[in-house]
Amino acid sequence: MTHIFHRTPRVPLQTAVRGEGCYLFDADGRRYFDGSGGAAVSCLGHGHPEVVAAVAAQVQRLAYAHTSFFTSEPAEQLADLLAGRSPAGLAHAYFVSSGSEAVETALKMARQYHVERGEAGRRHVVSRRQSYHGNTLGALAIGGNAGRRALYEPLLAEAHHVSPCFARHGRQAGESDAQYAERLADELEQKILALGPRTVSAFVAETVVGATAGAVAPVPGYFPRIRAVCERHGVLLILDEVMSGMGRTGTYHAFEQEGVVPDLLCLAKGLGGGYQPIGAVLAAARVVDAIVGGSGAFQHGHTYVGHPVACAAALAVQTVVERDGLVARVAELGRGLDARLRSRFGDHPHVGDIRGRGLFQAIELVRERDTGEPFDPALQVHARVKRAAQERGLLCYPAGGTIDGRRGDHVLLAPPYIASVGQLDEAVERLGEALDAVVR
Ligand code: PMP
Repeated sequence: MTHIFHRTPRVPLQTAVRGEGCYLFDADGRRYFDGSGGAAVSCLGHGHPEVVAAVAAQVQRLAYAHTSFFTSEPAEQLADLLAGRSPAGLAHAYFVSSGSEAVETALKMARQYHVERGEAGRRHVVSRRQSYHGNTLGALAIGGNAGRRALYEPLLAEAHHVSPCFARHGRQAGESDAQYAERLADELEQKILALGPRTVSAFVAETVVGATAGAVAPVPGYFPRIRAVCERHGVLLILDEVMSGMGRTGTYHAFEQEGVVPDLLCLAKGLGGGYQPIGAVLAAARVVDAIVGGSGAFQHGHTYVGHPVACAAALAVQTVVERDGLVARVAELGRGLDARLRSRFGDHPHVGDIRGRGLFQAIELVRERDTGEPFDPALQVHARVKRAAQERGLLCYPAGGTIDGRRGDHVLLAPPYIASVGQLDEAVERLGEALDAVVR
């Protein structure tokens, strides 16, 4: 009997007792390849000696000092490191403890930016259907994950959703990339106009959509057009790279592949690689300048903002990522993983799509490949495939919903950046066996 009340307390779980490199071990001594790095978190795998040493040293030296009185060396160094790797405009870091907190923080920064500029009427946020931005009530309100929202409706804030941009799905017959991107940008503009001029604070989007759709990148040209619409209407662009950022897609920031720079960028997961809970918002100078030059203080804060141990962990993770050239390695391993998935599942009767970037890749499960018809969602095929994979020693990303309920569900892989080619090949094999065991 467990006294823990987590998500599904009645489902008996294995007890994880140890992690080493790309593997987790349970209390019965079983070994699992961490094929989704937990939830796209463990970019350096488990038990990395340099990170462990940095965390231990920081706990001993200084575990906590409130940011109302002090800054700390690891927080300052981490902010410097992030500023040094980001486009010039995006040089200010605010450190929190999770992805949801990063999103909440960005929403409040955007709001205060407008208030400082005399535009307090900008109270709406526009986001996209089929998105996930976190589970706290503000982040949940802007998210487009119907399952996560349903029990808590009406939420504290009203959602204003537009269509997501999925390179393959959602396109109208005969539409080119440019026409598709143009149509979605126009939809955003119409939404902003309908809400009323000067009432929208920010547009929020995942650069590459993660949990709700499974590693779906936008069509080329989408984000520059979205950026232009935002500029025309004084709306800030917030990109959520909690899952797709920090090297996961083969560039340091996922937006580098899209030709835009956001006003606010949300980070978490791979930032600290799971060694400590940490998230961050990177803010553009214009946002920070408006706040500093206005009332002077950002009216926000959590007890664990800029936590020294969390920052030390992230600093160590990011130092290793840089020193070992791991972002370039992700790009290269990603090309290999893509090829491997295509050779294993390209002709599979129940795989309708193979997609992703870097070490962020998914297969879409369908009843019929030719028509793309999904399985009945009640069958929970993705969950059964993941269970079968776990029995074979492979962990995949836990979520796996369908796109707009009309496309297949998916299995997402987001392995550590330190995985070897052999380990990735074996993961694809195990996934193939699991799929064949569930759907024949
Ligand atoms: N945004 C995105 C894109 C995410 O994938 C997640 C977590 N899956 C979050 C925000 C929320 O992060 P956290 O669970 O750390 O609060």
